[in-house]
Amino acid sequence: MIYAGNFKTNHTRKSTREYLMKIQLHNHKIRANGDRVMIFPPLTAIDNYEVDFTVGVQNAYPTQNGAFTGEVGVEQLDEFGIKTILIGHSERREILGESQEFVAKKFAFFKEQGFEIIYCIGEPLEVREEGSEAVIEYLMAQFEGIDTSYDNFIVAYEPIWAIGTGRSATQKEIEETHNALKKSIDKPILYGGSVKGENISEIASIDSVDGVLVGGASLKTDTFLELVFHKN
Ligand code: PEP
Repeated sequence: MIYAGNFKTNHTRKSTREYLMKIQLHNHKIRANGDRVMIFPPLTAIDNYEVDFTVGVQNAYPTQNGAFTGEVGVEQLDEFGIKTILIGHSERREILGESQEFVAKKFAFFKEQGFEIIYCIGEPLEVREEGSEAVIEYLMAQFEGIDTSYDNFIVAYEPIWAIGTGRSATQKEIEETHNALKKSIDKPILYGGSVKGENISEIASIDSVDGVLVGGASLKTDTFLELVFHKN
């Protein structure tokens, strides 16, 4: 299983270092379990950390460098050896107004750079309420312009109504959706949306769930490690 933690706009450089060092202490066991951890701190907390798990970024601009005020490009990420990025998170699509066209442009750019990409998709509540066929149609449209054959590519299915709400999708909804996606996209698929200690066993037991992308429950090492070691 992949356990990915998205800090969003939380943590400082100091607290991120402390966090990562704590995870590092457990990483041998995590690897021995056949699992993998990926952490996405805010950009100001990116550094050359001596850890042997993945530290990636939540966002970057599709450029090497240039005149893009407030953004960072590959030149800035290279300084810290960052080669992993989240693209298409619903908060960037919805709050920051990233269109499918722009998301696809970002994907193509970071693919060209050989980045590992976690590509997020997810439907709003009104689409979920229309039923599973409508959900799949909506999700497949979020692959427009995306090269789904790219090797270094992980999908994260995150229903928007389940993100940060405490209300996860049901086991049946997750299983149905992941199974349907796997018919067209032969890539690992993470589930995201209110994953926590109380529901991890149920979610992780679904065959088509290859991992989880976690916001709230990733913010403290205790709650994150509870997910990572839910079987131990
Ligand atoms: C997320 O934003 O990727 C997420 C899944 O958040 P949460 O776990 O807090 O729902």
